Amino acid sequence: MNNFIEQNTSLEKCPALVLNADYRPLSYYPLSLWSWQDTVKSVFLDRVIIVSNYDRIIRSPSFNMQLPSVIALKDYIVPQTRPSFTRFNVFLRDKFSCQYCRSGEELTFDHLLPRSKGGETNWDNVVTACSACNVKKGGKLLKNSDMKLNQYPYRPSTEDLHKNGKNFPPNYLHKSWMDYLYWDVELEA
Ligand SMILES: [Zn+2]
Repeated sequence: MNNFIEQNTSLEKCPALVLNADYRPLSYYPLSLWSWQDTVKSVFLDRVIIVSNYDRIIRSPSFNMQLPSVIALKDYIVPQTRPSFTRFNVFLRDKFSCQYCRSGEELTFDHLLPRSKGGETNWDNVVTACSACNVKKGGKLLKNSDMKLNQYPYRPSTEDLHKNGKNFPPNYLHKSWMDYLYWDVELEA
């Protein structure tokens, strides 16, 4: 698939939203996106149905093809039920706000039980914190820190994140994806 001539460099920024065979996103968190190369390959292998296209043509010596923006798998895959433990998802669970002071600035992570005291890096021990609160709490236990925690960390369900996700969508969403994402927002409007 290396013989395609790109019309311009932003082709790398044209991923396809991947839907399951039931036309729901294969995954929300992270959002199931494939690079244009993987997308084109899957079309040629006849593994997907093209649902929507970008206004972009990719060209090779032998053919032209509109670049898919939404594809659906032909074979249903049982979706993962739990969101991955990622930076974005922790921030999303905590609504992109420091769990000590509610600030949304300079966000990082704090280990509720400090790592120096055996605290692990997982859903149950990591909270969103601003840099200032992160430094202030340092290696202290919460009860010795003179700080208040807004919400104890927990492992969220996809639905938990989806509720928050409406307010904090990923940086890039193509308009053709909107029919398959956040559809309940449309209904509320
Ligand atoms: Zn803070």
